[in-house]
Amino acid sequence: MQKIKKFPIVDGNLGWYEISPSFAKVLGQRIKGEQKFDFAIIGAGYSGVAVAQRLAELNPDASIALIDALAVGQGTSGRNAGFVIDVPHNLDAAKSNVEHDRKLFNLNNFAIQRLRDFKDKYSIECAWQKAGKYMSAHEESNLVGLSHFVETLKAGRFDYEIVEGEALKKRLGTDYYRSAVYTPGNVLINPSSLIRGLAESLPPSVKLFENSPVLSCEYGPPHKLNFLGGRVSAQTVVQATSSFNEEFGHLKNRLAPIFTYASLTEPLTQNELNRYFKGVSPWGTTSAHPAGTTVRFTPEGRIFVRNTLHYQGSLHSNAEGLEQAWQQHRRSFQARFPFLANKVFEFTWGGMLCMTLNHQSVFKQPAAGVYTLVGCNGVGVAKGTYLGYYLAEHICGLTSDNLSFILENSHPSWVPPDPLKGLGARLRLRQESSNAGGYLNRPMLVGD
Ligand SMILES: Cc1cc2nc3c(=O)[nH]c(=O)nc-3n(C[C@H](O)[C@H](O)[C@H](O)COP(=O)(O)OP(=O)(O)OC[C@H]3O[C@@H](n4cnc5c(N)ncnc54)[C@H](O)[C@@H]3O)c2cc1C
Repeated sequence: MQKIKKFPIVDGNLGWYEISPSFAKVLGQRIKGEQKFDFAIIGAGYSGVAVAQRLAELNPDASIALIDALAVGQGTSGRNAGFVIDVPHNLDAAKSNVEHDRKLFNLNNFAIQRLRDFKDKYSIECAWQKAGKYMSAHEESNLVGLSHFVETLKAGRFDYEIVEGEALKKRLGTDYYRSAVYTPGNVLINPSSLIRGLAESLPPSVKLFENSPVLSCEYGPPHKLNFLGGRVSAQTVVQATSSFNEEFGHLKNRLAPIFTYASLTEPLTQNELNRYFKGVSPWGTTSAHPAGTTVRFTPEGRIFVRNTLHYQGSLHSNAEGLEQAWQQHRRSFQARFPFLANKVFEFTWGGMLCMTLNHQSVFKQPAAGVYTLVGCNGVGVAKGTYLGYYLAEHICGLTSDNLSFILENSHPSWVPPDPLKGLGARLRLRQESSNAGGYLNRPMLVGD
């Protein structure tokens, strides 16, 4: 019997979840008693939901359980910055060559199209906007990051625009950034609203269970998943639990989970919007440095800030980490929007980037009737969506060029176990952060 020792918790105040139109609505029951299904999917984030959708399409008569330890939209899929990214991204830069980049672009666009279709079909309110994405630099030293990005975009024949100086200030409402590269295909969303809407619109053959942590597994087949007062048996189990995957016993020394944090302000008043953001459309920017700050001006007139990287072997945050992040978010916010210094952060939370060392995901069948999908490397809204779709096809024995490409590029490299993993991660983060530059840089805390 494989006992699970680390469980997801609610790390802080989950902003996107609490401002979702369906906040607090119960979408699924807890698992109680004995239940039997053909497929059981653990993890109702973008990866797990995509597996459930495609499995249900391919096997309309099959019974499918989709299970999460938290409420849907409280996990990392509902905590992220809400960029659905089309072009290759610096967090996901595995091997960079034109053919590989174009393939990723096509897969990302496939995912965006699929998410858009579900959003339209089921009228999911998730503040979906084809707003594009800026990658910006404030520090001179980070302009080199922009140049590298431009080289990749040029080589791959992706659309982009360089925006600088007064023109950039006009678009963003702040003069903090020197230069930016704008790519038009990115979509911005409330990620919690979208994942909740997708889970809510699954067909009746998929039974959703929330607030139901898997406590232990007895592998078969049939496989048995044990819960407090309940048990699920299934011929096929899919593990899509992101940073918690190594708990399930079929994966070892492949994941490097890194905590990062986000804050969302209270909404700006109409006066503030008129005064400082007249003619400014909602926008989002990532940083030219992979350890830098992500910022959004949202359609509800809030400012979102994400930065700070910590290694937490426990897989949950603590009060000290949240406090450090809040302080860094205040510094980053005030540097960019000194005229809004009185606006408070209504929400501050943490979540994990499930990184792998070579940026490849885990996409495999480690045992009879057991499948694992994990390691989205910070771009999981699009990546989890296409990997989930193709994992379902793989389970059903389908083949395609896209599936072959995914299988060829799913060999994450080895990472040492703790305490070496923690030591290595902390050293690397310290190095990355001190290179990130920006306002009031600190070890582990980042600016630009
Ligand atoms: C602050 C932040 C900003 C980010 N910004 C972006 C962004 O802008 N764009 C982007 O594409 N990506 C972004 N990411 C990354 C993105 O959120 C992840 O790649 C994505 O959530 C991965 O989806 P997933 O479904 O694989 O995993 P998850 O969303 O982590 O889902 C896994 C689920 O498994 C459940 N689970 C774990 N253990 C158990 C158990 N024992 N029993 C039952 N259920 C269990 C968890 O509760 C969780 O809901 C960001 C991440 C963070 C933290």
